[in-house]
Amino acid sequence: MKVLFLGSGTSTGVPVIGCDCEVCRSDDPHNKRLRASVLVQTESTTILVDSCPDLRQQALRHNLTAIDAVIYTHEHLDHTAGFDDMRAFCWRREDRLPLYAGSSCLEHLRRMFAWAFSENNTYKGYIRPDAHDHAGAPFVIGDIEVTPVLVQHATVETYGYVFRSAGRSFGYVPDIKTLPDASRPLLMGLNLLAMDGLTTREHHTHLNVADNVALMQELQPERGLLTHCGHAVDYRTITRELPSFMAPAYDGLELEV
Ligand SMILES: [Zn+2]
Ligand SMILES: [Zn+2]
Ligand SMILES: [Zn+2]
Repeated sequence: MKVLFLGSGTSTGVPVIGCDCEVCRSDDPHNKRLRASVLVQTESTTILVDSCPDLRQQALRHNLTAIDAVIYTHEHLDHTAGFDDMRAFCWRREDRLPLYAGSSCLEHLRRMFAWAFSENNTYKGYIRPDAHDHAGAPFVIGDIEVTPVLVQHATVETYGYVFRSAGRSFGYVPDIKTLPDASRPLLMGLNLLAMDGLTTREHHTHLNVADNVALMQELQPERGLLTHCGHAVDYRTITRELPSFMAPAYDGLELEV
């Protein structure tokens, strides 16, 4: 299984519009962050996680022309606003594009993009989703097993996901403030785990870097990554401060799990 970080940034992206802090002015390409999204791939299956507002740029950068399914973590706009750019993934397929989300996110998508979900949407140029409410239960796409992991983030229903294929596992939790006890076993001992590391200060809806490290140390993945990072996170500084099994993700990072 391969994981490609299409974007590793928080909702503003980095640099932040109008900000002249050191990270926003940095020349280090690791500090240029598009909004958070990953591609999970095997030889036969490609899954996009979230359609962020930078999806067009991400698809062009990585020559991404087809996906087998899209999965949503939650309804915040930094994870959904690129929905319409998935038209390009529908032009080349006869059937509808499989889309998986929890109930709340799906309801939000149906409201925001009502025309796409309409029974009357038969025009080939539009995005034509085949929507599934996973309701927190595991599901399978091609040769990848997907397990939703309910987490607490702001006031919206939010999921992380664990992807498993050929005995390997990858957990992706871009937006989380706390991990409920019931979800904890699902994220234990994975091969790779990427989790919210928004900032270096306290934050009321996201883990900060110290919270992330503490939770990683409990969950003990073989390898841990910070993602969904903002402009308080300088790539080189944070890399030095993290335990040896951890690193910050960055845009374009591709890993074999
Ligand atoms: Zn977010
Ligand atoms: Zn800044
Ligand atoms: Zn969010």
